[in-house]
Amino acid sequence: MNVQKVNYQKELEKLLNKITEEGRTPSLLLHSCCAPCSSYVMEYLSEYFSITIFYYNPNIYPESEYTKRILEQQKLIGDMHFTHPVSFLAGKYDRERFYRMAEGMEHLKEGGARCMKCYELRLSETARQAAAGGFEYFTTTLSISPLKNAQKLNEIGLAVGEKYGVKYLVSDFKKKNGYKRSVELSNEYGLYRQDYCGCEFSLAQREQERSFSAR
Ligand code: SF4
Repeated sequence: MNVQKVNYQKELEKLLNKITEEGRTPSLLLHSCCAPCSSYVMEYLSEYFSITIFYYNPNIYPESEYTKRILEQQKLIGDMHFTHPVSFLAGKYDRERFYRMAEGMEHLKEGGARCMKCYELRLSETARQAAAGGFEYFTTTLSISPLKNAQKLNEIGLAVGEKYGVKYLVSDFKKKNGYKRSVELSNEYGLYRQDYCGCEFSLAQREQERSFSAR
């Protein structure tokens, strides 16, 4: 069956126009996977929203990498200038929860069923926090990556938003040169850019690819 893809960037633009017309600055809980991905998204969305960055990534391995990424995220928020201020909230580094979720899917390649569950894990927790904190919207920076499935991310975001009763902000941040801008901002702010997605399985995959290409 040929399922038609939704242009989520266009959908987002319609909503941003509506918010501008209403003259409001809604609150947004923005899940971030890392500083480089969040750079462009914060620059873009802080024009319209009062943002709290939610750093919830129990997938990241090893712990030293987690520490590196979270510190880089906090530093970037302090270094950048925004139209509306951006604040920070750390989620729990609950690795057991990630490993329980990934059970039986450890061997799958990046982009497969394990990753869909990983998106769901992080988006569910963001939606839950957004509902508990009284945020009007929630979303994630993940759609900026060309390696992430934006259609699936939006489907999952909309479903968990419905479950927790919070509005999910649809997105495809890589569009309109979003990814390119994130690379520019990463260079401008001297950000650490990791070369693997985050979990130990993606690290093993990257190391294997590196050893193949070195042959
Ligand atoms: S490869 Fe990335 S998205 Fe997939 S399970 Fe690992 S950390 Fe999550």
